[in-house]
Amino acid sequence: MLLPPLRYLRPETPGDAAALLSEMDGSVVLAGGQTLLNMLKLDLARPAALVDVHRISALRDIRHREDGTLIIGAAVTYSALAGSSETRRTHPAVADMAASLVDRQVRNRGTIGGNCCLNDPANNFPPLLAALDARFRVLGTDGERVLRADEFFVGTLATGLRRGELLVAVEVPAMPPGSVVAHEHLQVGADSWAIARAVVRLDRDGTGGTGEGFVTDARAVLGAVYGSPLRLHSVERSLSSARVSPGLADAATALREVDVRPTEDVHCSTAYRLEMAEVQLRRALRAAVEGSIR
Ligand SMILES: Cc1cc2nc3c(=O)[nH]c(=O)nc-3n(C[C@H](O)[C@H](O)[C@H](O)COP(=O)(O)OP(=O)(O)OC[C@H]3O[C@@H](n4cnc5c(N)ncnc54)[C@H](O)[C@@H]3O)c2cc1C
Repeated sequence: MLLPPLRYLRPETPGDAAALLSEMDGSVVLAGGQTLLNMLKLDLARPAALVDVHRISALRDIRHREDGTLIIGAAVTYSALAGSSETRRTHPAVADMAASLVDRQVRNRGTIGGNCCLNDPANNFPPLLAALDARFRVLGTDGERVLRADEFFVGTLATGLRRGELLVAVEVPAMPPGSVVAHEHLQVGADSWAIARAVVRLDRDGTGGTGEGFVTDARAVLGAVYGSPLRLHSVERSLSSARVSPGLADAATALREVDVRPTEDVHCSTAYRLEMAEVQLRRALRAAVEGSIR
C-alpha cells in the first residue's frame, strides 16, 4: 500500500527532535523504519509526522565511560554495534546479540533504540538489557530522565516514555570480572519470531580456572513470554551464593514452581510456552555455567 501523505522532519539534535515531538500532535520518531514503515504500509499506524532521528550524530555514538559503562546512542544500528570491537571486548553479549539479529538488511537499518521503544515481546534486546541492568536515558522538553529496565519496558508494545519523549541512549554497566551471560530462544520457523527466550547472567567470585567459585549475583530473565521481559527473582535467589557446578542448571530451573503463566497466542498455548521457556532457561543456565568453568 502507498503511504498516506505525512510530514517528514529531520532535526539535527536530540533537543530539536524532542521539541518537535512535543509540539506536533501525532508525530512519531522514525529510526531504522524496519517496523514503523511496515506498520504505515499496512495502515496499522497513522502518524501526522515522522521525526527522523537516524542521522542525528549524537544518537549514533558508541562510547565507554571510564567506569566501564557502555553507552549506546539510540540510533546506533545493530551492524554498528556488532562491528564495535571495543563493545565485543567489554560487553560481548551485546555485540553477539546485535550480530545474530535476523538478516543483513535489518541489521544495517534497525537500531537499538527502535528495538527497545517498540518493545515487541519477541524482540531480542529487551530481555538481554534487563539482565544487564541497563538504564535508559530519555529526553523531553522538561529535561532528561533515566529509567531502569522495569520502568522502561512496561507492556506489549508499551514503554515508560511519556508523550514527546525521545530515547537518547542505552547505558549498560560494566560487566564484573568473571561475569558470564548466555541466551537461548526458540522460534516458530526459520525466519520467524521467538516464542520463548531466556537470558542468564552469572557473576561469580574466583575468576580463574576450573569451576571453583560461587555465584555472587545472578539475573534470569524470560522474553517473549509476557508483554515485557520477566525477571525470575526466585530463580535468581536460588542461584546466588550457589557453588558454580555442572548440576546448577537443573537445580534452579523448575519454572512450574514459580508463579509464571505465559501468554497464549496464535503461535502456542500457555502450557507449551511455559515448557519451552523452561527449556530455554535451562539451556541458557547450562551455557552460562559451562562458560564459567571453561
Ligand atoms: C523481516 C524482519 C524480521 C525481524 N525480526 C526481528 C527479530 O527476530 N528480533 C528483533 O528483535 N527484531 C526483529 N525485527 C525488528 C527490527 O529489529 C526492528 O529494527 C526494530 O523492532 C525497530 O527498530 P527500528 O530502528 O527499525 O525502529 P522503527 O521501526 O523506526 O521504530 C520502531 C518504533 O520505535 C519508536 N522509536 C524508535 N526510536 C525511538 C527513539 N529513539 N525514541 C523514541 N521512540 C523511538 C518509533 O516511533 C516506532 O514506534 C525484524 C524486522 C524485520 C523487517
